[in-house]
Amino acid sequence: MCVDNFLYEKSVECPVCGNTFTVTAVKKKAYMVESRDTDFCVHYKALNPMLYDVWICQLCGYAALQSSFPNITPKRAKLIQEYITPKWVARETEKIITYEKAVNRFKLALISAQISKAKASEVAAICLRIAWLYRFMNDEEKERTFLSNALEKYLEAYANERFPLENMDEATVIYLIGELHRRLGNNEEAVVWFSKVINSRTGTERIQKLARDQWHLVKDELKKNSVS
Ligand SMILES: [Zn+2]
Repeated sequence: MCVDNFLYEKSVECPVCGNTFTVTAVKKKAYMVESRDTDFCVHYKALNPMLYDVWICQLCGYAALQSSFPNITPKRAKLIQEYITPKWVARETEKIITYEKAVNRFKLALISAQISKAKASEVAAICLRIAWLYRFMNDEEKERTFLSNALEKYLEAYANERFPLENMDEATVIYLIGELHRRLGNNEEAVVWFSKVINSRTGTERIQKLARDQWHLVKDELKKNSVS
């Protein structure tokens, strides 16, 4: 199946500099889910829409996930113009985005978020997606690095921000923190966060089930380790 069939172009206005530019967007019919990982990474049957999730303004250099792209505050936009635009070298816009190119685009979004002092939850969402890109590319070491960055930022967001965080309610965020701990081998911490979800009895049925399943998984792991 030709990737081209799933893509179309649309016009976007940059909230930092007012430039109008074209982005490649993914048609709804491409969103065919193959499976979901326990940290919410989605595997798609055909094209991976996540590859197209970062928008970059070639005029001023502002880059962000499309969900947060329009929502930059004037204060943050000023920081982009002050620290990113003067150093920005426009590059060719690509219609077809490979995993390697996507990693670079997400890292540009990460730089924009960090330099303009975006909320921790926004930085966390970018780091988590970079970890997933490395997962798709089978680079475990870099995946771990970015899972760990995502965890650090979700912990910061959990402590300081109001829910929902990027569409996730409190129980979902607590579960995700537990799951990131588990994937990084911090089994004791994972148990604490999964228990928090289970004991709170809040969140969706799906999150409660995930928390119970992962709690059992990590408990078994801890038992195995204490025997050997
Ligand atoms: Zn711009």
